[in-house]
Amino acid sequence: ATAPAQTTVEDLPLREDLRGRSPYGAPQLEVPVALNTNENPYPPSPALAAALARNVEEAAAGLNRYPDRDATRLRAALADYLGHGLDGARVWAANGSNEILQQILQTFGGPGRTAMGFEPSYSMHPVISRVTCTDWVSAERTGHDFGLDTRAAVEAVRRNRPDVVFLTSPNNPTGTALPLETVAEIAEAAPGMVVVDEAYAEFRREGTPSALTLLERYPRLIVSRTMSKAFALAGARVGYLAAHPAVVDALQLVRLPYHLSAVTQAVAATALEFAGELQSQVKHLRQERDALVEWLGSHGFAVAASDANFVLFGDFDDRSAVFSAMLEHGVLVREVGPPHMLRVTVGTPEEMSAFRDALLQVTADRR
Ligand code: PMP
Repeated sequence: ATAPAQTTVEDLPLREDLRGRSPYGAPQLEVPVALNTNENPYPPSPALAAALARNVEEAAAGLNRYPDRDATRLRAALADYLGHGLDGARVWAANGSNEILQQILQTFGGPGRTAMGFEPSYSMHPVISRVTCTDWVSAERTGHDFGLDTRAAVEAVRRNRPDVVFLTSPNNPTGTALPLETVAEIAEAAPGMVVVDEAYAEFRREGTPSALTLLERYPRLIVSRTMSKAFALAGARVGYLAAHPAVVDALQLVRLPYHLSAVTQAVAATALEFAGELQSQVKHLRQERDALVEWLGSHGFAVAASDANFVLFGDFDDRSAVFSAMLEHGVLVREVGPPHMLRVTVGTPEEMSAFRDALLQVTADRR
């Protein structure tokens, strides 16, 4: 029998809690200047691309076999990159940090359990929570420049007793990094796991240390990272975490065997060998970011200080109108976060110049 053509998702015996939901994802539009998903604008250098091709060719010759299930070599290389006395037993890798977060929630969340975050923040935290049947509790970021008021945050954690707390630092979409004391006080107060999502760690300004320095003190602390941003490797899907070895052991209970392909492992290990070259691009992006924040401020826009590779700016009575008008100029930004603000990813100098020109034209008769 052939299936009736008019069958829709809603006709299927779907999980009740998934009914009426839409898949999450930013628009993937073909535009001249795409500044909407916090990607790194610089493609791999010819030298890195050549090394990737060589090492993928080597991996290709063994693709009849399953990959190293424990990704031993890659995890050791990631630990090396992170420093802080970490080793492979304290590092775990997966297909993007989204999969890392999913594995954390599968292990420490689930039915009858609660995860908590401070919003506005990365919208996949509540989405992955729901998909893993973990209840989601949200508290507000009440601190300066979308930061956390430590006392209020600790109070919220004490009140809600979440099994998993998400702290995003630097925060997406606001760019705000958290002081270490805030993370430490929340780690003291939290009854369960505390996940510091440091997807944008490499873009921090001087003087904001990573939560990696706290791992020694808190066995229930997890620092999540990604190669999608600073390593300019979003297309390869590599995320990782650092935590107590017991946490890494616990994650083995939910990871699929051979989840990280041999090709992915080879690509990630190769990119790590080019960490120095990639760091210098990160430095350029940080300078471009600082210049953008200053330019926005000096042109009368509201702008949040940023420790990431994006900037939140406004204030717009009708941000959707500004978003659409920018798109007509070929510049794609993101409608996300507080209602009067837009988010722009830091691109190349040429892309930022196109962004500035478009923004001035679009807002000339609006403000
Ligand atoms: N965490 C944060 C805060 C992010 O902004 C993103 C990507 N936008 C991710 C995690 C996921 O990135 P990936 O899966 O590419 O590692």
